[in-house]
Amino acid sequence: MPPVDVLHQPRAMGQIQRALRSSRLAHAFVFHGPEGVGRELAARQLAAALLCPDARWVEVPAQRREHVEAPHELRACGACQDCRLCDADTHPDLHVVHRFLNRFHDEDRVRKLKASQLSVDVVRQFIIAETGRKPARGRAKVFIIRDADRLSASAENALLKTLEEPPDDTFMILIAPSPQDLLATTRSRSALIAFDALPKAFVQRQLSMRHRDKPPATLAWAAAFSAGSLGRALELLEDGVYEVNEAFVRGWIGAPADPSILDPDLWIKTAGALGSHCKKRDEELSDSEGQRMGLKQLIALSAACFADALRMGSGADALRVRSGAGAILNEQARPALQACADRWDRGAVCATLDRLHRAESHLDMNANTQLVVEALLYDVFAALRGEAMVAG
Ligand SMILES: [Zn+2]
Repeated sequence: MPPVDVLHQPRAMGQIQRALRSSRLAHAFVFHGPEGVGRELAARQLAAALLCPDARWVEVPAQRREHVEAPHELRACGACQDCRLCDADTHPDLHVVHRFLNRFHDEDRVRKLKASQLSVDVVRQFIIAETGRKPARGRAKVFIIRDADRLSASAENALLKTLEEPPDDTFMILIAPSPQDLLATTRSRSALIAFDALPKAFVQRQLSMRHRDKPPATLAWAAAFSAGSLGRALELLEDGVYEVNEAFVRGWIGAPADPSILDPDLWIKTAGALGSHCKKRDEELSDSEGQRMGLKQLIALSAACFADALRMGSGADALRVRSGAGAILNEQARPALQACADRWDRGAVCATLDRLHRAESHLDMNANTQLVVEALLYDVFAALRGEAMVAG
């Protein structure tokens, strides 16, 4: 049950409405921002407004007024045949393009390729060839390009010509985390629309509507740890990351007297389990890529736990609690973390945070995962016991 309207994106929605109002409507857009904040939903709304013959400027209803800049917006009618086709994702002029389309490519060779990138073959068949045809329903053609940051260099270059001289009836919406993920030439030919992280309270409310069985503390944690991405927060709950976090926070609280959290085998096994969830969402991931993603998640959970202790130890947390701003991430473990903050040396906590960060960059550089974990845990153990780190 996704929200039917894009909420809490007044800046992006304002930019889109201004573009629609302008006499020279852009033909290419880059919707950029974090995953799971409404970029694709906004792209589909824009597509519907372009494809619906009865789209008109209407007053924004009162309950959504705070989410938009202007009191009027261009909306698809929601009732005509085009709107119904858009809703059912079967509109012949709405093309959602993604890297896995290679499986439907005409050529056997392309169907067999790994889809880790959005390839030039997919761009040629599913975008460029399509732009040469008239719109099936006569009005316009809209291409939504998912994960445009995964366009291969040759695919993005192949797209440039279409972006440069787009047919009058063709619109492209590229979705990416950041405009920097695209070539400067792509950026300069597109209207850049920035999406922001969602407010934590909104994410938490949405989670509670979908996960009525989960305790509020679990939902609050997922909303906070997702950094304003509803999509990410839902994944955290579905993948059981909260339970993993509980175990890891407990483990760190007991360390270094109880060193069980410093067992590399525990990390590798848990990372594998988390990685298998990532693989379910992206079948192209190999076991080792999944495990690497799982390890990065464990590093992020551990870093959040030490960051909490640091905030509590330095008094920054008390200031934020007084000011009414949210406090630490692991609110459920506050008393035990306070005890850690009092017990652990602050320099050791800072060194541990730095060490976790470095381990993450080693994983990004494809270092051997077993070695990264062993060296990391060895160093953190030393730091927590008041010894100097040796590796790095
Ligand atoms: Zn309509």
